[in-house]
Amino acid sequence: MDKEPGMSVDRRAAWPYGPDGEPGEFVYQRYAHPTGAAAEAALGELEGGDALLYSSGTAAVTACVFALCRPGSTIALAQGAYFGTGVTFAQFAPWGLNVVEFDQTGPPPTEADVVWLESPSNPLLTLPNWEAARGHPGVVVCDATASTPVFLRALDEGATIVLHSATKYLTGHHDALIGATITREGELRERLYNARMRLGLSAAPDAAAMLRRGLDTLEVRVRRQTETATELARRLGEHRNVLKVRYPGLGGLISFDVPAGSERAVETSTTLIANQTSLGGVRSTMESRHRWEGDRIPVGLLRLSVGLEDVDAIWADLSSALGRA
Ligand SMILES: *Cc1c(COP(=O)(O)O)cnc(C)c1O
Repeated sequence: MDKEPGMSVDRRAAWPYGPDGEPGEFVYQRYAHPTGAAAEAALGELEGGDALLYSSGTAAVTACVFALCRPGSTIALAQGAYFGTGVTFAQFAPWGLNVVEFDQTGPPPTEADVVWLESPSNPLLTLPNWEAARGHPGVVVCDATASTPVFLRALDEGATIVLHSATKYLTGHHDALIGATITREGELRERLYNARMRLGLSAAPDAAAMLRRGLDTLEVRVRRQTETATELARRLGEHRNVLKVRYPGLGGLISFDVPAGSERAVETSTTLIANQTSLGGVRSTMESRHRWEGDRIPVGLLRLSVGLEDVDAIWADLSSALGRA
């Protein structure tokens, strides 16, 4: 952790060359900048690898595809993983990228060049089977957005690259769009760095500063969110209008099903819990995912991201909204 309290943000787009006319450590913002480098060092320490930041989680996904795939490459994507990841991969279909889905609770297809896990998958909340994925000959990428390094050090489990939408828990306040990859392999890090620089996927200094600030409170936030979510999942399981609860036992995400057709009434009836997309912030948010994902998930599925509010206050809001189901 940086020793000085407080934080300054260097927003310069370029830095002067040295007295000898040679470029110094920082040259041009698209390559690297001091605020990003400080956040990368802190995140790299938490994950046990070398971190790179991008302009969003999606930009990090794009950099991975560019760095790891060639025309004809196959990515095996965990079923029920973040909807947008599959949508991003589909943009590469004209360049010859193949995508196959598989159940990440079992072994990945052996012929895949890249295995894409998500821990836990969003919004179905399954966990990857590390035993089955570890020996795979391809590159194993794990999107650990919802686990955070507090609950998962994916590089220790056998992943080659960890990816985060740092927009979510790592930043933690719904006020910055930023993504990250972490790897221990120097050559892969260079390929990812090159993709970031050449495709223009770099993170802005202000977003990097918000991430750096978020990391200082990450552990206390997600431990408290886990405690609250565990209790809410228990209470949801006992509610007469809740058909099914998915909670993996860690983190602040819960998905639960209400009878199909009543999800809209429930999500629009909360007052403390904001009805909006995204997750991982200090304020609770909830939305029906069917509007985005269609029939790959149940119509009545609601995804709740538990914030730092008092557990009884969240439950009062939720149970009153559930009365509308
Ligand atoms: C939000 C999200 C992403 C995409 O990240 P953005 O920062 O929105 O681009 C990727 N993976 C998971 C699991 C997410 O929740």
